Amino acid sequence: MVPEMRVHSCPKQRAMVQSKTWVLARHFEGFPEDSNFELKLEQQPEPKDGEVLLEALFLSVDPYMRPFSRLRMKEGGVMIGTQVAKVIQSNNSAFPIGCHVVGRCGWRTHTVSDGTGLTRLLSDWPQEVPMSLALGAIGMPGLTALYGLEEVLGLQAGDTLLVNAAAGAVGSTVGQIAKIKGCRLVGSTGSDAKVAFLKELGFDEAFNYITVSSLEEALKSASPDGYHCFFENVGGPFCSVAIPQMKEFGRIALCGGISTYNETIPQTGPYPHLTMIFKQLKMEGFLVGRWEHKNQEALRRLMAWKREGKLQCREHVTQGFENMPAAFMGMLQGENIGKAIVRVSIEAI
Ligand code: NDP
Repeated sequence: MVPEMRVHSCPKQRAMVQSKTWVLARHFEGFPEDSNFELKLEQQPEPKDGEVLLEALFLSVDPYMRPFSRLRMKEGGVMIGTQVAKVIQSNNSAFPIGCHVVGRCGWRTHTVSDGTGLTRLLSDWPQEVPMSLALGAIGMPGLTALYGLEEVLGLQAGDTLLVNAAAGAVGSTVGQIAKIKGCRLVGSTGSDAKVAFLKELGFDEAFNYITVSSLEEALKSASPDGYHCFFENVGGPFCSVAIPQMKEFGRIALCGGISTYNETIPQTGPYPHLTMIFKQLKMEGFLVGRWEHKNQEALRRLMAWKREGKLQCREHVTQGFENMPAAFMGMLQGENIGKAIVRVSIEAI
């Protein structure tokens, strides 16, 4: 659905734009529900000197929004999030009319910004590559995969790597980069269609963690000698079962814990201490923003792999700004293969 851009005349005869926004009506308790969200209209002011008016083309729905909502958002505030947007009015020479940016604008169709938190798309973004990938494999999730593998795990050719939530935005990129680097790859995911997708991507082994009779047996049979590296996206019982499958001196990149994000009562043990001590494992949590200074170079590498056909960038696209909450909740339930995004503008088709 195309967002309406209503233009009103105010007493000073300036064009005013009304933005659609999704606000957090009340904090999530457990799994999100429709009633947590409210669609509102927000009058955008005329851009002042140094400011631009943005129109959203694609918005991202990401797991971090669930835990960050508690930390970063107040009830009644606009949902946090990133979008690919077009500059449609500009008083800022760094962002001329017509250029495209990735912006932390929240769940809004239109935004007046002073440029804070805006990044222009790579200057030579190829026409044949969808701009929505700037929210996925050639954006934050792709960078997460790359930095987790290179900076945290120090992945080496010949390593056996385990990744969970493997068919998602981060996981599917992790797997493909690990293949490029000459690793043996095992992926866990939540449906048979996703397992088939992982095989298409070149995973050596893939299994459906929901239908296997024993997760421990599935991990053992996928790699009887254990794992050098584990790219951890899920947390909870999966992590408890996976850690004992690590080789001695194994490395674990703690990227996410999506199985815990909607809990009302925190999970408890088993605790990994003895296994980690006796196997002398290394586990490191990380946030993608730590290596922001490397982003331009890293995005160029991801783009090069995409253009060389080494990086498949599947997307799960929901149409229409009105469907943001449904897209978000669907992603948390595992509906997506690849990156979950929402397309809002007709221009984005
Ligand atoms: P995905 O595209 O992977 O989508 C989320 C997926 O999580 C779902 O498709 C589903 O896949 C899986 N999932 C949902 N609930 C559960 C559950 N209870 N148990 C196991 N799997 C579940 O999301 P992203 O690629 O964007 O994010 C993946 C992980 O990376 C998340 O934990 C996220 O928080 C983290 N992350 C961390 C960053 C950092 O800087 N540290 C940056 C970006 C992401 P399936 O059907 O396979 O279960």
